[in-house]
Amino acid sequence: RHFEGDDSGDRTPRQTPGKLYSTATPTPVAAPKLLAWSKNLAEELGIADPFPEDVQILAGNKVTASMKPYAACYAGHQFGNWAGQLGDGRAITLGEWGAKNGIFELQLKGAGPTAYSRHADGRAVLRSSVREYLMSEAMHHLGIPTTRALALVETGDKVLRDMFYNGNPEYEPGAIVTRVAPSFLRFGNYELLAAQGENDKLKRLIDWTIDRYFPHLTEEDRILAWFGEVVDKTAFLMTEWQRVGFVHGVINTDNMSILGLTIDYGPFSFLDHYDHNFTPNTTDLPGRRYAFGNQPSIGYWNLGRLANALSVLFDDTEGLENALDSYEQIFWNYYYDMMGKKLGFTNPGKDERKIIARFEAVLSAIQPDMTIFYRLLAEMPLKADAEQIMKHFQPSFYNELQPKDQEEFVGLLTEYQKLRKNAGLSEMDRKKLMNEANPRIILRNYLLHQAIEELEQGESKLFLRLQEAMKQPYATEGFDELVKKRPEWAETKAGCSMLSCSS
Ligand code: AMP
Ligand code: MG
Ligand code: MG
Repeated sequence: RHFEGDDSGDRTPRQTPGKLYSTATPTPVAAPKLLAWSKNLAEELGIADPFPEDVQILAGNKVTASMKPYAACYAGHQFGNWAGQLGDGRAITLGEWGAKNGIFELQLKGAGPTAYSRHADGRAVLRSSVREYLMSEAMHHLGIPTTRALALVETGDKVLRDMFYNGNPEYEPGAIVTRVAPSFLRFGNYELLAAQGENDKLKRLIDWTIDRYFPHLTEEDRILAWFGEVVDKTAFLMTEWQRVGFVHGVINTDNMSILGLTIDYGPFSFLDHYDHNFTPNTTDLPGRRYAFGNQPSIGYWNLGRLANALSVLFDDTEGLENALDSYEQIFWNYYYDMMGKKLGFTNPGKDERKIIARFEAVLSAIQPDMTIFYRLLAEMPLKADAEQIMKHFQPSFYNELQPKDQEEFVGLLTEYQKLRKNAGLSEMDRKKLMNEANPRIILRNYLLHQAIEELEQGESKLFLRLQEAMKQPYATEGFDELVKKRPEWAETKAGCSMLSCSS
Protein backbone atom coordinates (compact mmCIF):
# COMPACT_ATOMS: atom_id res chain seq x y z
CA ARG A 1 0.00 0.00 0.00
CA HIS A 2 1.59 3.21 -1.14
CA PHE A 3 -1.25 5.52 -0.19
CA GLU A 4 -3.84 6.22 2.41
CA GLY A 5 -7.03 4.32 1.84
CA ASP A 6 -10.05 3.07 3.66
CA ASP A 7 -9.23 -0.44 4.84
CA SER A 8 -12.55 -1.05 6.59
CA GLY A 9 -13.92 -3.23 3.81
CA ASP A 10 -17.16 -1.27 4.02
CA ARG A 11 -18.88 -1.29 0.66
CA THR A 12 -21.65 1.13 1.50
CA PRO A 13 -21.71 3.70 -1.30
CA ARG A 14 -20.21 6.87 0.16
CA GLN A 15 -17.79 9.75 -0.13
CA THR A 16 -14.28 8.88 1.04
CA PRO A 17 -12.48 12.23 1.24
CA GLY A 18 -8.70 12.05 1.30
CA LYS A 19 -8.67 8.32 0.52
CA LEU A 20 -7.19 6.96 -2.67
CA TYR A 21 -8.94 3.61 -2.42
CA SER A 22 -11.30 1.46 -0.39
CA THR A 23 -10.73 -2.22 0.17
CA ALA A 24 -13.43 -4.35 -1.47
CA THR A 25 -13.82 -8.09 -1.59
CA PRO A 26 -15.27 -9.53 -4.80
CA THR A 27 -18.80 -10.88 -4.35
CA PRO A 28 -18.99 -14.61 -5.15
CA VAL A 29 -20.89 -15.83 -8.21
CA ALA A 30 -22.95 -18.98 -8.77
CA ALA A 31 -21.32 -21.06 -11.47
CA PRO A 32 -18.21 -19.60 -13.10
CA LYS A 33 -17.17 -20.89 -16.47
CA LEU A 34 -14.02 -19.83 -18.33
CA LEU A 35 -14.99 -18.59 -21.79
CA ALA A 36 -11.67 -17.22 -22.95
CA TRP A 37 -8.04 -17.04 -21.88
CA SER A 38 -5.52 -14.83 -23.63
CA LYS A 39 -2.65 -17.24 -24.02
CA ASN A 40 -0.24 -14.72 -25.42
CA LEU A 41 -0.84 -12.19 -22.65
CA ALA A 42 -0.45 -14.99 -20.09
CA GLU A 43 2.89 -15.88 -21.67
CA GLU A 44 4.02 -12.25 -21.58
CA LEU A 45 3.12 -12.11 -17.90
CA GLY A 46 4.64 -15.49 -17.10
CA ILE A 47 1.31 -16.80 -15.82
CA ALA A 48 0.65 -20.50 -16.36
CA ASP A 49 -2.59 -21.61 -18.04
CA PRO A 50 -5.31 -21.87 -15.41
CA PHE A 51 -6.27 -25.14 -13.73
CA PRO A 52 -10.04 -25.62 -13.45
CA GLU A 53 -9.97 -24.47 -9.79
CA ASP A 54 -8.19 -21.22 -10.78
CA VAL A 55 -11.40 -20.09 -12.47
CA GLN A 56 -12.67 -19.41 -8.95
CA ILE A 57 -10.05 -16.65 -8.71
CA LEU A 58 -10.95 -15.19 -12.11
CA ALA A 59 -14.60 -15.14 -10.99
CA GLY A 60 -13.91 -13.43 -7.67
CA ASN A 61 -14.98 -16.50 -5.67
CA LYS A 62 -11.55 -17.00 -4.19
CA VAL A 63 -9.08 -14.40 -2.94
CA THR A 64 -5.61 -15.73 -2.20
CA ALA A 65 -3.57 -14.68 0.84
CA SER A 66 -1.25 -12.48 -1.25
CA MET A 67 -4.10 -10.40 -2.71
CA LYS A 68 -5.33 -7.16 -1.15
CA PRO A 69 -8.35 -6.32 -3.31
CA TYR A 70 -9.38 -2.69 -3.51
CA ALA A 71 -11.40 -0.21 -5.55
CA ALA A 72 -9.67 3.03 -6.54
CA CYS A 73 -11.23 6.38 -5.81
CA TYR A 74 -11.14 9.00 -8.55
CA ALA A 75 -13.22 11.84 -9.92
CA GLY A 76 -13.83 13.20 -13.38
CA HIS A 77 -15.50 15.43 -15.90
CA GLN A 78 -18.28 13.55 -17.65
CA PHE A 79 -19.66 14.93 -20.92
CA GLY A 80 -17.99 18.24 -20.13
CA ASN A 81 -19.31 18.60 -16.57
CA TRP A 82 -17.60 18.12 -13.26
CA ALA A 83 -19.01 14.91 -11.79
CA GLY A 84 -17.24 14.91 -8.42
CA GLN A 85 -16.16 11.67 -6.80
CA LEU A 86 -16.50 8.55 -8.92
CA GLY A 87 -14.24 5.53 -8.47
CA ASP A 88 -14.12 1.87 -9.42
CA GLY A 89 -17.79 1.00 -9.18
CA ARG A 90 -17.48 -2.36 -10.84
CA ALA A 91 -13.77 -3.01 -10.97
CA ILE A 92 -11.74 -4.51 -8.16
CA THR A 93 -7.95 -4.62 -8.35
CA LEU A 94 -6.63 -7.88 -6.92
CA GLY A 95 -3.03 -6.73 -6.67
CA GLU A 96 0.20 -6.42 -8.61
CA TRP A 97 2.01 -9.04 -10.60
CA GLY A 98 5.73 -8.84 -11.33
CA ALA A 99 6.51 -9.98 -14.87
CA LYS A 100 9.73 -9.92 -16.83
CA ASN A 101 8.75 -6.67 -18.54
CA GLY A 102 7.45 -4.83 -15.52
CA ILE A 103 4.81 -4.77 -12.81
CA PHE A 104 1.17 -5.16 -13.82
CA GLU A 105 -2.08 -4.58 -12.01
CA LEU A 106 -4.68 -7.32 -12.29
CA GLN A 107 -8.26 -6.23 -12.00
CA LEU A 108 -11.64 -7.96 -12.12
CA LYS A 109 -14.32 -5.97 -13.94
CA GLY A 110 -17.84 -6.93 -12.93
CA ALA A 111 -16.94 -8.57 -9.59
CA GLY A 112 -19.64 -6.87 -7.50
CA PRO A 113 -20.20 -3.68 -5.54
CA THR A 114 -17.58 -1.42 -4.01
CA ALA A 115 -17.75 1.78 -1.99
CA TYR A 116 -17.98 3.56 -5.36
CA SER A 117 -20.85 1.64 -6.97
CA ARG A 118 -23.35 4.41 -6.14
CA HIS A 119 -26.76 3.02 -7.16
CA ALA A 120 -25.49 0.28 -9.46
CA ASP A 121 -24.76 -3.39 -8.93
CA GLY A 122 -21.04 -3.60 -9.66
CA ARG A 123 -21.72 -6.25 -12.27
CA ALA A 124 -21.06 -6.47 -16.00
CA VAL A 125 -23.09 -8.34 -18.58
CA LEU A 126 -21.72 -10.95 -20.96
CA ARG A 127 -22.37 -8.65 -23.92
CA SER A 128 -20.15 -5.80 -22.68
CA SER A 129 -17.55 -8.19 -21.28
CA VAL A 130 -17.14 -10.03 -24.59
CA ARG A 131 -16.76 -6.66 -26.28
CA GLU A 132 -14.07 -5.48 -23.84
CA TYR A 133 -12.22 -8.78 -23.90
CA LEU A 134 -12.04 -9.04 -27.69
CA MET A 135 -11.54 -5.36 -28.37
CA SER A 136 -8.75 -4.66 -25.91
CA GLU A 137 -6.81 -7.63 -27.28
CA ALA A 138 -7.61 -6.53 -30.85
CA MET A 139 -6.27 -3.04 -30.12
CA HIS A 140 -3.09 -4.57 -28.76
CA HIS A 141 -2.60 -6.53 -31.97
CA LEU A 142 -3.28 -3.39 -33.97
CA GLY A 143 -0.30 -1.91 -32.16
CA ILE A 144 -2.34 0.68 -30.26
CA PRO A 145 -1.62 1.44 -26.58
CA THR A 146 -4.30 -0.25 -24.49
CA THR A 147 -5.15 -2.06 -21.30
CA ARG A 148 -5.29 -5.81 -21.90
CA ALA A 149 -7.65 -8.65 -21.06
CA LEU A 150 -6.38 -11.93 -19.65
CA ALA A 151 -9.59 -13.86 -19.09
CA LEU A 152 -13.32 -13.84 -19.66
CA VAL A 153 -15.55 -15.74 -17.27
CA GLU A 154 -19.29 -16.24 -17.43
CA THR A 155 -20.62 -16.04 -13.89
CA GLY A 156 -23.74 -18.19 -14.08
CA ASP A 157 -25.67 -15.30 -12.48
CA LYS A 158 -28.20 -13.10 -14.22
CA VAL A 159 -27.82 -9.35 -14.26
CA LEU A 160 -30.69 -6.89 -14.65
CA ARG A 161 -30.20 -4.13 -17.18
CA ASP A 162 -32.46 -1.43 -18.52
CA MET A 163 -31.94 -2.26 -22.08
CA PHE A 164 -31.93 0.68 -24.44
CA TYR A 165 -30.66 -2.11 -26.53
CA ASN A 166 -33.78 -4.29 -26.87
CA GLY A 167 -36.20 -1.74 -25.50
CA ASN A 168 -37.21 -3.61 -22.31
CA PRO A 169 -35.61 -4.23 -18.94
CA GLU A 170 -34.18 -7.67 -19.23
CA TYR A 171 -32.04 -10.18 -17.38
CA GLU A 172 -28.79 -10.90 -19.10
CA PRO A 173 -26.00 -13.38 -18.36
CA GLY A 174 -23.28 -11.83 -16.18
CA ALA A 175 -19.55 -12.03 -16.85
CA ILE A 176 -16.20 -10.86 -15.50
CA VAL A 177 -13.15 -9.74 -17.45
CA THR A 178 -9.70 -9.88 -15.87
CA ARG A 179 -8.05 -6.67 -17.02
CA VAL A 180 -4.32 -6.05 -16.99
CA ALA A 181 -2.34 -2.81 -17.22
CA PRO A 182 0.85 -1.33 -15.78
CA SER A 183 -1.51 1.13 -14.13
CA PHE A 184 -5.21 2.00 -14.23
CA LEU A 185 -4.52 5.57 -13.04
CA ARG A 186 -6.73 8.10 -14.78
CA PHE A 187 -6.73 11.88 -15.14
CA GLY A 188 -9.56 11.70 -12.62
CA ASN A 189 -7.29 10.38 -9.85
CA TYR A 190 -5.36 13.67 -9.91
CA GLU A 191 -8.49 15.77 -10.37
CA LEU A 192 -9.99 14.20 -7.24
CA LEU A 193 -7.16 15.22 -4.92
CA ALA A 194 -6.93 18.72 -6.39
CA ALA A 195 -10.67 19.24 -5.95
CA GLN A 196 -10.45 18.09 -2.34
CA GLY A 197 -7.62 20.51 -1.61
CA GLU A 198 -5.38 17.55 -0.78
CA ASN A 199 -2.29 19.16 -2.29
CA ASP A 200 0.24 17.09 -0.35
CA LYS A 201 -1.40 13.86 -1.40
CA LEU A 202 -1.61 15.08 -4.97
CA LYS A 203 2.10 15.83 -4.94
CA ARG A 204 2.85 12.40 -3.50
CA LEU A 205 0.71 10.66 -6.10
CA ILE A 206 2.47 12.55 -8.89
CA ASP A 207 5.93 11.81 -7.46
CA TRP A 208 5.02 8.15 -7.21
CA THR A 209 3.61 8.11 -10.76
CA ILE A 210 6.82 9.64 -12.12
CA ASP A 211 9.16 7.41 -10.09
CA ARG A 212 7.34 4.34 -11.22
CA TYR A 213 6.23 5.02 -14.80
CA PHE A 214 8.38 7.95 -15.96
CA PRO A 215 11.69 7.26 -14.18
CA HIS A 216 13.68 8.82 -17.03
CA LEU A 217 12.38 12.27 -16.05
CA THR A 218 15.11 13.81 -13.93
CA GLU A 219 14.55 17.49 -14.76
CA GLU A 220 14.37 19.86 -11.86
CA ASP A 221 10.81 20.73 -12.80
CA ARG A 222 9.80 17.18 -13.36
CA ILE A 223 6.08 17.64 -12.79
CA LEU A 224 6.05 19.94 -15.79
CA ALA A 225 8.15 17.53 -17.85
CA TRP A 226 5.80 14.74 -16.85
CA PHE A 227 2.72 16.67 -17.88
CA GLY A 228 4.46 17.32 -21.21
CA GLU A 229 4.81 13.58 -21.68
CA VAL A 230 1.18 12.96 -20.84
CA VAL A 231 0.31 15.57 -23.49
CA ASP A 232 2.51 13.72 -25.98
CA LYS A 233 1.13 10.26 -25.19
CA THR A 234 -2.45 11.52 -25.36
CA ALA A 235 -1.87 13.21 -28.73
CA PHE A 236 -0.31 10.01 -30.04
CA LEU A 237 -3.22 7.89 -28.82
CA MET A 238 -5.73 10.21 -30.51
CA THR A 239 -3.93 9.86 -33.86
CA GLU A 240 -3.77 6.11 -33.46
CA TRP A 241 -7.53 5.97 -32.94
CA GLN A 242 -7.98 8.11 -36.07
CA ARG A 243 -5.67 5.77 -37.99
CA VAL A 244 -7.89 2.74 -37.58
CA GLY A 245 -11.26 4.48 -37.24
CA PHE A 246 -11.73 3.66 -33.55
CA VAL A 247 -14.37 5.67 -31.71
CA HIS A 248 -14.16 5.26 -27.93
CA GLY A 249 -17.59 6.71 -27.20
CA VAL A 250 -17.04 7.94 -23.60
CA ILE A 251 -13.76 9.81 -23.24
CA ASN A 252 -14.66 11.44 -19.94
CA THR A 253 -11.60 12.38 -17.87
CA ASP A 254 -12.20 9.36 -15.63
CA ASN A 255 -11.68 7.24 -18.75
CA MET A 256 -8.38 8.87 -19.74
CA SER A 257 -5.33 6.81 -18.81
CA ILE A 258 -2.37 8.72 -17.41
CA LEU A 259 -0.17 6.35 -19.45
CA GLY A 260 -1.94 7.13 -22.73
CA LEU A 261 -3.64 3.74 -22.94
CA THR A 262 -7.05 3.03 -24.40
CA ILE A 263 -9.05 2.28 -21.28
CA ASP A 264 -12.64 1.48 -20.21
CA TYR A 265 -14.18 -0.10 -23.27
CA GLY A 266 -17.89 0.68 -23.35
CA PRO A 267 -20.00 1.76 -26.33
CA PHE A 268 -16.99 1.91 -28.66
CA SER A 269 -17.05 1.15 -32.37
CA PHE A 270 -14.89 1.12 -35.42
CA LEU A 271 -16.15 3.25 -38.26
CA ASP A 272 -17.73 1.37 -41.07
CA HIS A 273 -18.55 4.28 -43.42
CA TYR A 274 -16.18 7.23 -43.04
CA ASP A 275 -18.10 9.75 -40.97
CA HIS A 276 -16.48 12.30 -38.67
CA ASN A 277 -19.84 12.81 -36.94
CA PHE A 278 -20.33 9.20 -36.00
CA THR A 279 -20.70 8.44 -32.30
CA PRO A 280 -21.49 4.89 -31.22
CA ASN A 281 -22.85 6.08 -27.87
CA THR A 282 -26.62 6.66 -27.68
CA THR A 283 -26.00 8.69 -24.49
CA ASP A 284 -23.83 11.03 -26.58
CA LEU A 285 -26.77 12.21 -28.72
CA PRO A 286 -27.59 14.80 -29.86
CA GLY A 287 -24.35 16.63 -28.93
CA ARG A 288 -22.00 14.06 -30.45
CA ARG A 289 -19.27 15.29 -28.12
CA TYR A 290 -17.39 12.03 -28.51
CA ALA A 291 -17.87 11.58 -32.25
CA PHE A 292 -14.95 10.23 -34.30
CA GLY A 293 -13.78 13.60 -35.61
CA ASN A 294 -13.99 15.28 -32.18
CA GLN A 295 -11.69 12.88 -30.38
CA PRO A 296 -8.46 14.88 -30.92
CA SER A 297 -10.09 18.08 -29.59
CA ILE A 298 -11.55 16.22 -26.64
CA GLY A 299 -8.09 14.83 -25.87
CA TYR A 300 -6.95 18.43 -25.62
CA TRP A 301 -9.93 19.48 -23.51
CA ASN A 302 -9.32 16.60 -21.11
CA LEU A 303 -5.64 17.53 -20.81
CA GLY A 304 -6.86 21.01 -19.89
CA ARG A 305 -8.78 19.53 -16.96
CA LEU A 306 -5.66 17.66 -15.86
CA ALA A 307 -3.54 20.81 -16.18
CA ASN A 308 -6.10 22.62 -14.09
CA ALA A 309 -5.78 19.98 -11.36
CA LEU A 310 -1.98 20.17 -11.42
CA SER A 311 -2.04 23.96 -11.33
CA VAL A 312 -2.71 23.93 -7.57
CA LEU A 313 0.93 22.89 -7.17
CA PHE A 314 2.30 25.81 -9.21
CA ASP A 315 2.75 29.46 -8.28
CA ASP A 316 3.20 30.34 -11.91
CA THR A 317 1.13 28.31 -14.37
CA GLU A 318 2.72 29.60 -17.56
CA GLY A 319 4.81 26.46 -18.01
CA LEU A 320 1.72 24.28 -17.68
CA GLU A 321 -0.17 26.43 -20.15
CA ASN A 322 2.67 26.20 -22.66
CA ALA A 323 2.86 22.45 -22.28
CA LEU A 324 -0.88 22.24 -22.83
CA ASP A 325 -0.62 24.51 -25.87
CA SER A 326 2.05 22.27 -27.37
CA TYR A 327 -0.66 19.63 -27.86
CA GLU A 328 -1.79 21.06 -31.17
CA GLN A 329 1.65 20.98 -32.81
CA ILE A 330 2.45 17.56 -31.39
CA PHE A 331 -0.88 16.24 -32.60
CA TRP A 332 -0.41 17.53 -36.15
CA ASN A 333 3.09 16.09 -36.34
CA TYR A 334 1.81 12.65 -35.33
CA TYR A 335 -1.20 13.09 -37.56
CA TYR A 336 0.69 13.87 -40.78
CA ASP A 337 3.17 11.13 -40.07
CA MET A 338 0.32 8.68 -39.54
CA MET A 339 -1.70 9.84 -42.56
CA GLY A 340 1.46 9.79 -44.65
CA LYS A 341 1.91 6.11 -43.88
CA LYS A 342 -1.74 5.37 -44.64
CA LEU A 343 -1.23 6.97 -48.06
CA GLY A 344 2.25 5.56 -48.69
CA PHE A 345 4.34 8.72 -48.19
CA THR A 346 7.37 8.41 -45.92
CA ASN A 347 7.97 12.07 -45.20
CA PRO A 348 4.90 14.12 -46.11
CA GLY A 349 5.85 17.61 -47.32
CA LYS A 350 3.65 20.50 -48.37
CA ASP A 351 1.97 18.80 -51.34
CA GLU A 352 1.37 15.61 -49.41
CA ARG A 353 -0.13 17.52 -46.50
CA LYS A 354 -2.44 19.27 -48.90
CA ILE A 355 -3.67 16.03 -50.40
CA ILE A 356 -4.11 14.51 -46.95
CA ALA A 357 -6.56 17.33 -46.16
CA ARG A 358 -8.31 16.67 -49.47
CA PHE A 359 -8.61 12.96 -48.66
CA GLU A 360 -10.32 13.87 -45.38
CA ALA A 361 -12.77 16.16 -47.16
CA VAL A 362 -13.62 13.86 -50.06
CA LEU A 363 -13.86 10.71 -47.93
CA SER A 364 -16.11 12.54 -45.47
CA ALA A 365 -18.40 13.54 -48.32
CA ILE A 366 -18.50 10.14 -50.01
CA GLN A 367 -18.34 8.02 -46.87
CA PRO A 368 -16.87 4.82 -48.26
CA ASP A 369 -16.04 1.95 -45.94
CA MET A 370 -12.86 3.29 -44.32
CA THR A 371 -11.08 -0.02 -43.85
CA ILE A 372 -11.87 -1.41 -47.27
CA PHE A 373 -11.05 1.89 -48.96
CA TYR A 374 -7.52 2.11 -47.59
CA ARG A 375 -6.68 -1.49 -48.41
CA LEU A 376 -7.92 -0.92 -51.96
CA LEU A 377 -5.85 2.25 -52.14
CA ALA A 378 -2.66 0.26 -51.65
CA GLU A 379 -3.66 -1.95 -54.58
CA MET A 380 -4.69 0.83 -56.95
CA PRO A 381 -2.94 0.40 -60.31
CA LEU A 382 -0.31 3.02 -61.13
CA LYS A 383 -2.15 4.06 -64.27
CA ALA A 384 -5.90 4.12 -63.98
CA ASP A 385 -8.42 6.27 -65.79
CA ALA A 386 -11.68 7.55 -64.33
CA GLU A 387 -13.62 4.43 -65.17
CA GLN A 388 -10.96 2.13 -63.78
CA ILE A 389 -10.71 4.19 -60.59
CA MET A 390 -14.48 3.99 -60.02
CA LYS A 391 -14.47 0.26 -60.66
CA HIS A 392 -11.48 -0.34 -58.40
CA PHE A 393 -13.08 1.35 -55.37
CA GLN A 394 -16.63 0.12 -56.00
CA PRO A 395 -16.41 -2.52 -53.21
CA SER A 396 -15.88 0.24 -50.62
CA PHE A 397 -18.97 2.33 -51.49
CA TYR A 398 -22.18 2.16 -49.48
CA ASN A 399 -24.06 4.43 -51.86
CA GLU A 400 -24.02 5.26 -55.52
CA LEU A 401 -21.96 8.44 -55.96
CA GLN A 402 -23.49 11.68 -57.19
CA PRO A 403 -21.83 12.96 -60.40
CA LYS A 404 -20.22 15.83 -58.49
CA ASP A 405 -18.78 13.50 -55.82
CA GLN A 406 -17.61 11.11 -58.49
CA GLU A 407 -15.75 13.92 -60.23
CA GLU A 408 -14.04 15.01 -57.00
CA PHE A 409 -13.19 11.44 -56.11
CA VAL A 410 -11.59 10.71 -59.48
CA GLY A 411 -9.80 14.08 -59.41
CA LEU A 412 -8.34 13.31 -55.98
CA LEU A 413 -7.12 9.85 -56.93
CA THR A 414 -5.63 11.07 -60.20
CA GLU A 415 -3.69 13.71 -58.28
CA TYR A 416 -2.70 11.08 -55.73
CA GLN A 417 -1.28 8.83 -58.46
CA LYS A 418 1.04 11.64 -59.52
CA LEU A 419 2.31 12.30 -56.00
CA ARG A 420 2.75 8.62 -55.42
CA LYS A 421 4.96 8.27 -58.48
CA ASN A 422 7.18 11.03 -57.11
CA ALA A 423 7.34 9.51 -53.64
CA GLY A 424 10.43 7.50 -54.51
CA LEU A 425 9.36 4.25 -52.85
CA SER A 426 9.42 0.95 -54.70
CA GLU A 427 5.94 -0.48 -55.26
CA MET A 428 6.71 -3.26 -52.84
CA ASP A 429 7.91 -0.94 -50.09
CA ARG A 430 4.99 1.40 -50.59
CA LYS A 431 2.43 -1.38 -50.30
CA LYS A 432 4.18 -2.70 -47.22
CA LEU A 433 4.18 0.74 -45.59
CA MET A 434 0.48 1.21 -46.36
CA ASN A 435 -0.63 -2.26 -45.35
CA GLU A 436 1.14 -1.91 -42.02
CA ALA A 437 -0.79 1.29 -41.31
CA ASN A 438 -4.16 0.18 -42.69
CA PRO A 439 -5.73 -2.85 -41.04
CA ARG A 440 -7.65 -5.30 -43.16
CA ILE A 441 -9.47 -6.99 -40.30
CA ILE A 442 -11.27 -4.91 -37.68
CA LEU A 443 -13.84 -6.07 -35.13
CA ARG A 444 -16.91 -4.49 -36.64
CA ASN A 445 -19.80 -3.89 -34.27
CA TYR A 446 -22.14 -6.10 -36.25
CA LEU A 447 -19.68 -8.99 -36.02
CA LEU A 448 -19.33 -8.55 -32.26
CA HIS A 449 -23.11 -8.40 -32.04
CA GLN A 450 -23.50 -11.66 -33.96
CA ALA A 451 -20.81 -13.39 -31.89
CA ILE A 452 -22.53 -12.29 -28.67
CA GLU A 453 -25.97 -13.44 -29.83
CA GLU A 454 -24.46 -16.83 -30.61
CA LEU A 455 -22.64 -17.03 -27.27
CA GLU A 456 -25.88 -16.29 -25.44
CA GLN A 457 -27.27 -19.37 -27.19
CA GLY A 458 -24.21 -21.39 -26.11
CA GLU A 459 -22.49 -21.34 -29.50
CA SER A 460 -18.92 -20.03 -29.63
CA LYS A 461 -17.91 -20.53 -33.26
CA LEU A 462 -17.89 -16.88 -34.38
CA PHE A 463 -16.41 -15.73 -31.06
CA LEU A 464 -13.46 -18.09 -31.48
CA ARG A 465 -13.07 -17.07 -35.10
CA LEU A 466 -12.92 -13.37 -34.13
CA GLN A 467 -10.45 -14.20 -31.39
CA GLU A 468 -8.13 -15.72 -34.00
CA ALA A 469 -8.69 -13.08 -36.68
CA MET A 470 -7.96 -10.11 -34.42
CA LYS A 471 -4.43 -11.41 -33.91
CA GLN A 472 -3.53 -10.65 -37.52
CA PRO A 473 -5.26 -7.40 -38.44
CA TYR A 474 -2.76 -6.49 -41.15
CA ALA A 475 -2.48 -9.90 -42.87
CA THR A 476 -3.07 -9.75 -46.61
CA GLU A 477 -5.21 -12.87 -46.71
CA GLY A 478 -7.40 -15.19 -44.66
CA PHE A 479 -10.69 -14.66 -42.80
CA ASP A 480 -12.32 -13.33 -46.00
CA GLU A 481 -15.79 -13.67 -44.48
CA LEU A 482 -14.86 -10.99 -41.90
CA VAL A 483 -13.53 -8.52 -44.45
CA LYS A 484 -16.83 -7.21 -45.68
CA LYS A 485 -18.75 -3.97 -45.57
CA ARG A 486 -21.37 -3.69 -42.85
CA PRO A 487 -24.44 -5.48 -44.25
CA GLU A 488 -27.60 -3.46 -44.78
CA TRP A 489 -29.54 -5.22 -42.02
CA ALA A 490 -27.00 -4.06 -39.44
CA GLU A 491 -27.31 -0.39 -40.30
CA THR A 492 -30.21 0.37 -37.99
CA LYS A 493 -30.34 -2.71 -35.78
CA ALA A 494 -29.72 -1.89 -32.10
CA GLY A 495 -26.36 -3.08 -30.84
CA CYS A 496 -24.89 -3.29 -34.33
CA SER A 497 -24.15 0.35 -34.77
CA MET A 498 -24.95 2.22 -31.56
CA LEU A 499 -24.88 1.19 -27.89
CA SER A 500 -25.58 2.74 -24.51
CA CYS A 501 -23.27 3.33 -21.56
CA SER A 502 -25.38 1.15 -19.30
CA SER A 503 -23.87 -2.19 -20.24
P1 AMP B 1 -18.02 4.31 -17.39
O1 AMP B 1 -18.67 5.41 -18.16
O2 AMP B 1 -18.41 2.93 -17.80
O3 AMP B 1 -16.52 4.45 -17.36
O4 AMP B 1 -18.54 4.41 -15.88
C1 AMP B 1 -18.60 5.62 -15.13
C2 AMP B 1 -18.66 5.31 -13.65
O5 AMP B 1 -19.80 4.52 -13.33
C3 AMP B 1 -17.44 4.56 -13.14
O6 AMP B 1 -17.07 5.08 -11.90
C4 AMP B 1 -17.94 3.14 -13.03
O7 AMP B 1 -17.22 2.42 -12.09
C5 AMP B 1 -19.41 3.32 -12.65
N1 AMP B 1 -20.23 2.18 -13.11
C6 AMP B 1 -20.58 1.88 -14.38
N2 AMP B 1 -21.33 0.76 -14.41
C7 AMP B 1 -21.45 0.32 -13.14
C8 AMP B 1 -22.09 -0.80 -12.51
N3 AMP B 1 -22.77 -1.72 -13.20
N4 AMP B 1 -22.00 -0.92 -11.16
C9 AMP B 1 -21.32 0.00 -10.44
N5 AMP B 1 -20.70 1.06 -10.97
C10 AMP B 1 -20.75 1.23 -12.30
MG1 MG C 1 -14.86 4.36 -16.53
MG1 MG D 1 -16.76 1.47 -17.70
